[in-house]
Amino acid sequence: MNSASRIRTPAVQRMLEAMNPDFMGNTAPDLPDSDANIEHLDFVSFDIPGCTRCGGVVKPDVVFFGESVPRELVQDAARSNPPMPCLCSVHR
Ligand SMILES: [Zn+2]
Repeated sequence: MNSASRIRTPAVQRMLEAMNPDFMGNTAPDLPDSDANIEHLDFVSFDIPGCTRCGGVVKPDVVFFGESVPRELVQDAARSNPPMPCLCSVHR
């Protein structure tokens, strides 16, 4: 289910912390590609909050590598005035 509702990042962080107090204080060393090494952590008991409106999966409002850009977003970009001259890609 997708309610297309949005929850601000600090609120999601508070939900994650409240649902997973045992994970607070964990540390993970950085890897050369900017990921974090979390192989030493067991996530079996990690609880993921659902959407507060529909219970669906909560995910960032971004298009991940390998996903399709939503049709509506592509159409909005094509109709923009002035025209959008480029696509911005962000990688940490
Ligand atoms: Zn929802």
